[in-house]
Amino acid sequence: MKNCAIVGINWGDEGKGRIVDLLCKEYDFVVRYQGGGNAGHTVVNELGKFALHLIPSGIFHKGVVNVLGNGVALDPQSLWEEIESVRSRGIEVTGENLKISDRASMLLPWHKELDALEEERLKHKKYGSTKQGIAPFYSDKYQKKTILVGELLHPKHLKEHIKDLLDWKNLTLTGVYNADPIKLEDLYAWFDEYAEKLRPFICDTGKLLKAAQKEDKKILFEAQLGSLRDLDYGIYPYTTSSNTLASYAPIGSGLGSTTMNEIIGIVKAYSTCVGEGPFVCEWFGEEADKLREVGQEYGAKTGRPRRVGPIDIVATRYGIEVQNATSIVITKLDVLSYMDKIPVCVKYELNGEQIDDFPFPVELADCKPVIEYLDGWKQDISGARKWEDLPVNARKYIEYIEEKVGCRVSIVSVGPERDSYIKR
Ligand code: GDP
Repeated sequence: MKNCAIVGINWGDEGKGRIVDLLCKEYDFVVRYQGGGNAGHTVVNELGKFALHLIPSGIFHKGVVNVLGNGVALDPQSLWEEIESVRSRGIEVTGENLKISDRASMLLPWHKELDALEEERLKHKKYGSTKQGIAPFYSDKYQKKTILVGELLHPKHLKEHIKDLLDWKNLTLTGVYNADPIKLEDLYAWFDEYAEKLRPFICDTGKLLKAAQKEDKKILFEAQLGSLRDLDYGIYPYTTSSNTLASYAPIGSGLGSTTMNEIIGIVKAYSTCVGEGPFVCEWFGEEADKLREVGQEYGAKTGRPRRVGPIDIVATRYGIEVQNATSIVITKLDVLSYMDKIPVCVKYELNGEQIDDFPFPVELADCKPVIEYLDGWKQDISGARKWEDLPVNARKYIEYIEEKVGCRVSIVSVGPERDSYIKR
């Protein structure tokens, strides 16, 4: 397939990075098209364990060109730290294998500060932001009050633009939040530093990808977070501030209305969620601690313990529908091996009625999970490499999910390592 998107079906952290790492050797380009450094993609390969935040997961493969598209929240500081950290472990990152769109907007120092100040103001009503500045960034982008990466190549124009923006932003910092203003000299120094560092990576990535398509090159689009965090279709306002859906990939990468030949949705074998907001299947106490421990469910960016629970068929079916996934991958099946019975949330109960369809976000707070149990397999499956290697009950679990969500399972992942998977 020429254009393939790898997307999250649930709340994020489904294991997209690991699947991109697995599949990208068959592709020429790996493109990030939305989001920023607010989530982490974990990749485990022969060089060790890497938590990527902005750099596309294709960076470990020679010959793959990694692109940060125009839809990304380009945080120069975090990106640079990440480039240095990856380089220090022997991975080559150059202007040849990493390209940054000149049309990507830059996440600026005040975005992180405003994110933290607003969460602080909201106190117990906070959104659970990772405080990476994503919400203030996207609101500024849509107000047309941020700076495009390409402007770094136009220093005279840039200076004036920075000054105008800072005059305006300091009004918010001082007037609304009573914080200290940012000094113009400090900001100029910050821009000088990152203009120098990022220059070799900047190009018109839309043009690059269009030319690649003409040459029949294969492009893999890597999404961040999942369907339920999509700004328009997720559990608003506990969403992120960008569109996490595959349908945004062409726009966020400069390819207009290109169609996806394949959309692979990543689903975890159970549910996890970071941050605030409704989470119908949530477990608490010992049961939750055990699953969190076995699954090592701690945020890749923040280290925060993730909220956990059984797989949620209602949310997963909805996530698949809005992504228009052509197949799904089930990750972390190995984690469930300790359970005698495997719980599955098959429906929600809302106001005394059982429902199959994912409700309006506000109603989620009143939904209760309706749970069915399947028999567990109680044996280590991390060495399984063929469908027949899986115990019957593990196969039944996969087939059950497949039937309930109405989408083919193409890969089952049984461990974080590159080869720990079963292709069906
Ligand atoms: P992403 O943001 O969707 O890429 O997901 P994260 O990287 O935040 O979280 C996925 C975590 O699960 C990472 O630590 C992966 O190494 C790990 N992982 C992925 N697939 C599997 C699997 O099949 N089994 C186990 N045990 N761990 C996995």
